[in-house]
Amino acid sequence: MALVLEVATERWRAHLTRVMAAPDHVRVIPVGKGNGYGLGLPRLAREASTHKAATFAVGLIEEISQVSPHFDGDILVMNASPDPLGALTATEIPEQVVHTVSRVADLEMLADSPARPRVVVELLTSMKRHGIALAELPRVAPLLGKVRFEGWSLHLPLGRGLLDEALTLSRAALSVPSGQARPQIWVSHLGTDQAASLAAATGADVQLRTGTELWLGDRTALRPRASVLDVHRVERGERIGYRQVRPGAGTALIVAGGTANGIGMVAPSAMSGMRSRAAAVARAGLEAAGRLRSPYRIGSRRLEFVEPPHMQASMVWLPSSTTPPAVGSELDLDVRFTTTGFDDIQFQ
Ligand SMILES: *Cc1c(COP(=O)(O)O)cnc(C)c1O
Repeated sequence: MALVLEVATERWRAHLTRVMAAPDHVRVIPVGKGNGYGLGLPRLAREASTHKAATFAVGLIEEISQVSPHFDGDILVMNASPDPLGALTATEIPEQVVHTVSRVADLEMLADSPARPRVVVELLTSMKRHGIALAELPRVAPLLGKVRFEGWSLHLPLGRGLLDEALTLSRAALSVPSGQARPQIWVSHLGTDQAASLAAATGADVQLRTGTELWLGDRTALRPRASVLDVHRVERGERIGYRQVRPGAGTALIVAGGTANGIGMVAPSAMSGMRSRAAAVARAGLEAAGRLRSPYRIGSRRLEFVEPPHMQASMVWLPSSTTPPAVGSELDLDVRFTTTGFDDIQFQ
C-alpha cells in the first residue's frame, strides 16, 4: 500500500551486464550517489559487486559507509572535499578510497601529509564545475610523486563533441610525467566507443564513470506504481482537501506517494528553445487555474492533482465520466528517479 518501484530483475541485470562489458582498455565504473538513482546506494553497491566492478564511485565521502559493507573493491569519491585533510581521516577504509583533487592548493596539502593518499587529479573541462586548469599543470607535476597518483579525471558536459575535448585535455595531462606504468583517464559521459577511441589515441586506460545509463538505461525494466488508498465521490460545489477546493463533480482518488517521496517536485529542466518555454507557460497556466498535472496516470492519461501533494499521499482527480479504480488497485506513474524515494523496491 505504498509507492513502489517494481524491478524486472532479469531484464535489469541483463542491461547492467551489457553496459559493464566494455571494450579493451575501457572499464565501466558504476556511479552511485544521492538517492542511488531511486534504487538506493546499498543495492547499487551489491549489484556492482555481482558484476565484478573493480571500483565504485560515490559523490561524497559521507556516502562511503552506505557502500563499503556491500562492496569490497576501491571506492572513488568524485567530489573534492573542501577539507582534504579532514576527508582523509573521515573514512575507516582509507586504503580502499581514492580521492578526487580539483585544486592545486589541496594537492599541495595532501602532498605534505604523511598519509600518501590515493588520488585522481581532476582537470577543468567546459563544464566549469571543478578542476585544475591546464595552465596550472606545471605546478601539479612535482606533487604527483608525493601522493599515490591514480590518474586524471575529466567531468564532461552532456552532448556531442566531447571526445575532442577529452582528447585535448588528456593529451595535455599525459605530457606531465606521472610515474604511472599505464596512464589512467577517468571520464564521464562518453559512449563506450568514444572511450575506446580515447584509449586508443592516448595509450591510456579509460575508466568510464557511468550512472544514469547503467542503472536507468532500460526503463522497461523499471515500473513505478502507486496503490489507490481511497476513492471518494465528490458532488458539484462540494469542498475537499486541506485547502477545501471545489473540484466539481467527479471522484477524488487518494493515492500513495507524497512530498516525502518527492512527488510533485519538478526539477527545473533545461529551458532551451521556444517549444519547452511554451510548454512551461502552458503548465504555469494550468497551475494558475488550480489544476496541476500529477505524475499518476490511468493508461496513457495523466491525472490532475486536486491540491498539492500531502506528505505520503496525494489527491488526484477523476472526472465523473471516468469509472474510478478500486481501492487497493494500482496506478502507474512517471517519476524522475533521481528525485524519488520509493517506499519499497520489489525485485521480481
Ligand atoms: C554523477 C556523476 C557521473 C555519472 O553521471 P551520469 O550522468 O549519471 O552517468 C560521473 N562523473 C561525475 C563526476 C559525477 O558527478
